[in-house]
Amino acid sequence: MTKQQEEKKTMKFETEVSKLLDIVANSLYTEKEIFLRELISNSSDACEKLRYESLSNKDLKSKDPFKIEIHIDKKNKTITIKDNGIGMNEEDLQANLGTIAKSGTEEFLKKIGDKKRDISQIGKFGVGFYSSFMVSDQVVVRSKKFNSDQGYLWMSDGKGSYTVEKNDTKNQGTEITLSIKDAESEFLDNFRIEEIVRKYSDFVPIPIYVSGNEDRKEEKKEQINSAEAIWLKDKTKIKKKDYESFYKQSSTYYDEPFKTIHFKVEGVVNYSSLLFLPKSQPHDLYHPDRKNKLKLYVNKVFISDKLEALIPAWLRFIPGVVDSEDLSLNISREILQNNAVIQKINNGITKRILKEIKDLKAKDKVGFLEFWKNFGAVLKEGLYEFNETHDNIFEFAVFGSSEDNELITLSEYIAKYPNDKNKIYYISGENKENLMNSPQMEYFKKEKINVLLITDPVDEFWIPMKSKFKDYEFTSITKGEIDFKETQNNKKDSKTNKEDEEFIVYLKKLLKDKVKDVKISKRLTSSASCLVADENDMDMHLKKLMAANNQNTGDEKRILEINNDHDLVIKMKSLSREDKDKFSEILFDHAKLMEGENLDDPKKYTNLIAELVSK
Ligand code: ADP
Repeated sequence: MTKQQEEKKTMKFETEVSKLLDIVANSLYTEKEIFLRELISNSSDACEKLRYESLSNKDLKSKDPFKIEIHIDKKNKTITIKDNGIGMNEEDLQANLGTIAKSGTEEFLKKIGDKKRDISQIGKFGVGFYSSFMVSDQVVVRSKKFNSDQGYLWMSDGKGSYTVEKNDTKNQGTEITLSIKDAESEFLDNFRIEEIVRKYSDFVPIPIYVSGNEDRKEEKKEQINSAEAIWLKDKTKIKKKDYESFYKQSSTYYDEPFKTIHFKVEGVVNYSSLLFLPKSQPHDLYHPDRKNKLKLYVNKVFISDKLEALIPAWLRFIPGVVDSEDLSLNISREILQNNAVIQKINNGITKRILKEIKDLKAKDKVGFLEFWKNFGAVLKEGLYEFNETHDNIFEFAVFGSSEDNELITLSEYIAKYPNDKNKIYYISGENKENLMNSPQMEYFKKEKINVLLITDPVDEFWIPMKSKFKDYEFTSITKGEIDFKETQNNKKDSKTNKEDEEFIVYLKKLLKDKVKDVKISKRLTSSASCLVADENDMDMHLKKLMAANNQNTGDEKRILEINNDHDLVIKMKSLSREDKDKFSEILFDHAKLMEGENLDDPKKYTNLIAELVSK
């Protein structure tokens, strides 16, 4: 036996470690590539630790410039991550790489049992280093601690035991060599490795170099990462153009941001955030995935850009970064979705963004309206969801209305256009012009009662659900009875005579297959007839929207309202029974046309009109 062999110690992993290793290597992370992120983070931490040490230890010469070097050896199928950080001695190697540092592991393993590999808890434990075994079947660690002359070599295949022996490495720091499994050979490609470095470790504060590309004749070591996390820098030291280039580089937007929001929160949760209000709509704004554009970092290390829990889907167009120290780096995505810290961050950034939009409305009206045109409909999705931000959204949400040329908030509607019924009247349809010309608007225009003109489909979903704003009831004017006050204009409505009543009874019978009911209208002043939905039925435009999306909307018929004073109706009433039978259907077709609908038999309709005129 040689001296070296004598000194080689074979140790068993703590039982928990060995059980955990299997889980980590096989099922903890969805993307295997994150092993590199974990190792780089460890190296970066090791450099930071030594930097810190040299601050207080005068005898210690700082090892700056710190660096992390990644070398790929295609021939031997290895990848090596080397740093000049604090290093580990024999004890450290055993303590750090042979056990799992954080407490509670055993208890945790007991809880999940052997069969049920509920991985949703596991990421809470320090398991980063072990993720190497996802891609490699042997890991060799050579390390020399900053205050020692003796180096050590740690080696394991990740299957229950490891060895530690002395090693005469000259390098101070740590060098980790992974023998890449055959199935994972993609990680022996420089471009792939550089891509992973940029993706996860771009802002790690230590420069990272990649070497070993056989295709490149003359190997020049290039720093792969930008090493600067702009969101953690002092705001006063960042130039507008730096923000702009970060915005373009890190998001899918190609123009300048509309507004930059850079802030730091300290307290129950600590995080820094750099967010942007964009100027233009992203191409995927209405994609059904509703995927957000925020990236989560833990201490400058990229964790995820797929975290739904980080920001509400109705703020999905806001790009930026959130970086928090209050999360563990090894936390898995599954845990993050239900994490209390993430929930707090979500609330914090949501409130902040809404406040910025409110300020924008107060300070830059033109800019706000441009922003609202792009994102108002998406922001209003927040009103359809159960959450605590409705009041904040109502502070800036604006709507078109029949009596005001400018867009107004609901509070302005109430203050400027009060009505004695405490109602917020609205009508919904394709566009403002059509709505203003709707027969159902006639009475409101005449009486100058303000009606919100709703053209964003999303409004038709949240308005009925919300039902009220403050004490004011949302009331569709194309639905149910409209509860009018008595005025000079509508007094006549109350005195229907026997002839009118008979005509209504007659029409009901004639059109019984087409309409639910026939009524004398209070809302028509110039048109002969119109259609409305019954009080408890779905509003007409919403029904059309849903039908257009192949959704089942039931088959309730609508109510036909007729204008008793209209010449056409007066004429109808005077016709002989036979002619009534022939012509009365015109009133229904007429109402359908007013709704922009197609007639079953347009030719018949025009012929009847022509014939009636000549009578
Ligand atoms: P975590 O980083 O979450 O503590 P790891 O399993 O990744 O868990 O690493 C365990 C420990 O091993 C680290 O806390 C650190 O003390 C030590 N370590 C890992 N890599 C290095 C390195 N490159 N240099 C010095 N120490 C390291």
